[in-house]
Amino acid sequence: MKPSSILFLDRALRDIALLSVAAVWRRASRNDVNKKTPGEKGTGRSMLRDSRSQVYQLLPQPLKVLASELVFKYSGRPYVYHDPAVHPAHGLPRGVVTFSIDFELAWGWAYAKGFSREDAVRIGLHERSQVPRILEKMDEYAIPATWATVGHLFLERCGGGENGTAHQDMRRMPHFENEYWRFTSGDWYQVDPCTDYQRDPAWYAPDLIAQILHAKAKHEMACHSFAHGGFGSYCPPEIAEANIAACFEAMEPFGLKPKTWVFPGNDVGNFEALAKKGFRTVRSFPVERAEISLPIRRSDGMWDIHESTPIDLEGKGWHLDERLARLKKFVDKAAETKLAAHIWFHPSLPADQMNGLLFPLFRYCAEQREKGLVDVLTNDQLIDATEAALTKEGKL
Ligand SMILES: [Zn+2]
Ligand SMILES: [Zn+2]
Repeated sequence: MKPSSILFLDRALRDIALLSVAAVWRRASRNDVNKKTPGEKGTGRSMLRDSRSQVYQLLPQPLKVLASELVFKYSGRPYVYHDPAVHPAHGLPRGVVTFSIDFELAWGWAYAKGFSREDAVRIGLHERSQVPRILEKMDEYAIPATWATVGHLFLERCGGGENGTAHQDMRRMPHFENEYWRFTSGDWYQVDPCTDYQRDPAWYAPDLIAQILHAKAKHEMACHSFAHGGFGSYCPPEIAEANIAACFEAMEPFGLKPKTWVFPGNDVGNFEALAKKGFRTVRSFPVERAEISLPIRRSDGMWDIHESTPIDLEGKGWHLDERLARLKKFVDKAAETKLAAHIWFHPSLPADQMNGLLFPLFRYCAEQREKGLVDVLTNDQLIDATEAALTKEGKL
């Protein structure tokens, strides 16, 4: 048999074997297309979704990679959600790609399950080392983004109070545990070094924030909580409000008032507090399968923005070419439908993914923009564009 035939047979067998997995997966998830309320838990559909993700988490890494490839290939992704009742009837003048970046250094990992404080610092320093290169590439390809930044990173320094406890005037997060985090003892700020950005650069980043603000690409600075405390049901409203106020205070010396909120751990909640504090947009969405869509106006006046896909991948063994092809499909689908792809990542992503996925994707977006097929906007600019299109149709 010719080598090319063997290769074909090998691919075909692999596809057939995993197509059956994909079919079962699809059947299991067929019913979860419909609307859910934010934070909805425990319904038949969400339980099915949760159990599916638990099964996926249990798979050995090579099977995870294969299942993910096959499910993407055979389940008609990226999923498009376009509802003329709430969206502009014909989308926007052009498709849109928007990037949001969860910028958190060590704070993002301090209470993540399976990570120690040392791990958090190591990841924070790695993230720090990559931000200037990411900014450079964004300038090279003229890609503006929405930097969802942890408030503590705006500080140059902070100090311990009388008994050495950091941020004594802040309301404290209660203990909680969920799928990703465990905070079951001590004080939320016990990880805070209480020094400054030169001595402990994994916990503060005013220097990097200045670089973002002075970049050629005009980025949006958004909010990702003060110290990466979650906003789920375990977080009382008064703590959420104090958290937001601390972010405003930290950002104020930079002349910034954020409009976009990105929930730490994508754990949504406390919408009332966010609306009350004047946020325009939250990264949450009332529709489950909406990978390519447009923002939706909420009844509280804020906008929900969908998320298409993260870029950074957990674990090893991913085929970066296949992943890059997927990311390009999101861009193509946005162009084809004149809706938006909202892609997000952590600047701590592994260097091979930064070089093999993120930068080629930036280049692809710039090329598609050059052809007049897409615009690359910040989240806030996407809201402006959606608002303008809805106003034109008399829907706002
Ligand atoms: Zn501090
Ligand atoms: Zn985060």
